[in-house]
Amino acid sequence: RRCPGELLGGGGNMAAGPGELALLRASPGAPCCPHGPALLFVRTSQGKEEGRRFYACSACRDRKDCNFFQWEDEKVSQTRLAAREEYNRSHQAPCTHRQNVERYKNFVLLPLSKRRFCQECQQLLLPAEWEEHSSHQFLYDISTAQLRSPSQLLYPLENKKTNAQYLFADRSCQFLLDLIISLGFRRVLSVGTPRLHELIQSKASQEENLRLRSLLLDIDFRYSQFYTEDEFCHYNMFNHYFFGGEAAHETCRKFLRQDKDESVIMVTDPPFGGLVEALASSFKKLMAMWKDTEKGGNKNQEMPMFWIFPYFFESRILEFFPSFSMMDYQVDYDNHALYKHGKTGRRQSPVRIFTNLPPSVIVLPAEEGYRFCAICQRYVSAGNHHCEICNSCTSKDGRRWKHCALCKKCVKPSWFHCNKCNCCALKNHTCEKTDVGCFVCGKTGHKRSTCPSLSHT
Ligand code: SAH
Ligand code: ZN
Ligand code: ZN
Ligand code: ZN
Ligand code: ZN
Repeated sequence: RRCPGELLGGGGNMAAGPGELALLRASPGAPCCPHGPALLFVRTSQGKEEGRRFYACSACRDRKDCNFFQWEDEKVSQTRLAAREEYNRSHQAPCTHRQNVERYKNFVLLPLSKRRFCQECQQLLLPAEWEEHSSHQFLYDISTAQLRSPSQLLYPLENKKTNAQYLFADRSCQFLLDLIISLGFRRVLSVGTPRLHELIQSKASQEENLRLRSLLLDIDFRYSQFYTEDEFCHYNMFNHYFFGGEAAHETCRKFLRQDKDESVIMVTDPPFGGLVEALASSFKKLMAMWKDTEKGGNKNQEMPMFWIFPYFFESRILEFFPSFSMMDYQVDYDNHALYKHGKTGRRQSPVRIFTNLPPSVIVLPAEEGYRFCAICQRYVSAGNHHCEICNSCTSKDGRRWKHCALCKKCVKPSWFHCNKCNCCALKNHTCEKTDVGCFVCGKTGHKRSTCPSLSHT
């Protein structure tokens, strides 16, 4: 049998383009891997389907992490089905969330001197377990403050293809929190935003009359060691799969059932690797859950959302969510070589906030140079100038863009109009390339998997 790794390619080129993979859909009858229902893919060439359709894992792009593979039209024997079920069972987390909650209760009763964390197993240890881990590295004297900031205690997962975690810099996390509070939200559905979740938790514990709550949905099960079932659900955002089954589903539903003065916002910061269509489909299901729980009123509204994603995905996101707009605010990360504050000053981060709230209410910090454009009715970055011809503030990357009369739009400052190509491009570009560009940045010469704008090293 062909192995999925061959088909999925080394870098997980999931974009539609020549010789690439297209996601068809999450179909109801899809077979399951340990990460829930698989997604249906097909190889494409020049936009046309080519070859047999197949199912592969929704969450893992690297077959080392999950090698699930099945042709769409493949007949799977009863024996193989049974073996698969057994395999899926044995690849669930070694303990349940409930068990982890019990462990946590016991852990916090321990005196500081007995509170250890195994760095190798990424696990809080009870004294009876020290022995088994005796050859491992520990952290000692785990304080209550540390328990409240698990994102500082846990190693950020670094698997590039599957589950890289890029944690918000304090500046950005604090900005998001302040914005959420100032907009009057009292509940935050944190989808893949563990650091925002923990900041909300600690803020709420400090200010009792704030009544701010967060529910974290994330695929990283390590977080179940620190949060109750009302605070964390093990969730896969590529196929809207709750690992905790109906009970977890209900927790989420209950959380979204907003009371009169407790409005909800969803904040998500998914891995940038792609599969925008899969993410959009899950987010629509979360939005539908919110809508279903509403008792009358606001029927025509959408659940407010912040989707944090690079600006070069703007057109893809708008395709699925036409009511969204992109804010100029640059989101920074701690452990991201490219997108964090450097000693030498701030590098430009390509990561933005997409929202269905009116742009005028998203107030961006003046200290960082953002200002309000009265014509566009939104806050824009310092270098973003209003173009009289486009009648909009056209910069996407924070630099001042220039208008090209021939292209009839604003373009990057480093671009020039090329008469041969009949469009603007870098000075040293190769003319009339028929090659379809990278799905992420639009440039030719590389594919999404090797796009320099996504490089994290
Ligand atoms: N900036 C955020 C973290 C974003 S990193 C913060 O600081 O809070 C992406 C997050 O999405 C990680 O927490 C990761 O565990 C989670 N994630 C990755 N793949 C996922 C999936 N398939 N389903 C749900 N969460 C996922
Ligand atoms: Zn250990
Ligand atoms: Zn403007
Ligand atoms: Zn213009
Ligand atoms: Zn031009």
